[in-house]
Amino acid sequence: MKSWRCIENCGACCHLDLAERDDLTGILSSKELDLINSMTCKDGWCKYFDKSKRECMIYESRPHFCRVSEFTKAFKGYLKNGDKFLINCCTQHISSIYGRKSKQMKVFRTAVQKK
Ligand code: SF4
Ligand code: SF4
Repeated sequence: MKSWRCIENCGACCHLDLAERDDLTGILSSKELDLINSMTCKDGWCKYFDKSKRECMIYESRPHFCRVSEFTKAFKGYLKNGDKFLINCCTQHISSIYGRKSKQMKVFRTAVQKK
């Protein structure tokens, strides 16, 4: 059985452009959406994402919506389908940012196969 896990040096979900994130509608408050907008650069990436290292620069103090273990409970899809929902979310993010045949996609697919 596949288990979700985050992989290092990915950050596909740190591309925050709300115009592409209708999954967050109704999940976050207007205050949180304002915070996301304030964190989003013109190119759509979070201003705290180090694009050369593909790492969060404020990892220990990142907002709650960046903490998968806390935030996912707000999604009905997660409550119903658990890890399958998370794997689908990451697959979509990685595919749209890095491509379906990218290194990140291969690493992610391998990681979620592990027990
Ligand atoms: S897209 Fe998924 S694997 Fe990549 S950084 Fe975000 S949570 Fe981790
Ligand atoms: S705060 Fe960190 S984890 Fe959250 S979107 Fe920005 S770079 Fe990614």
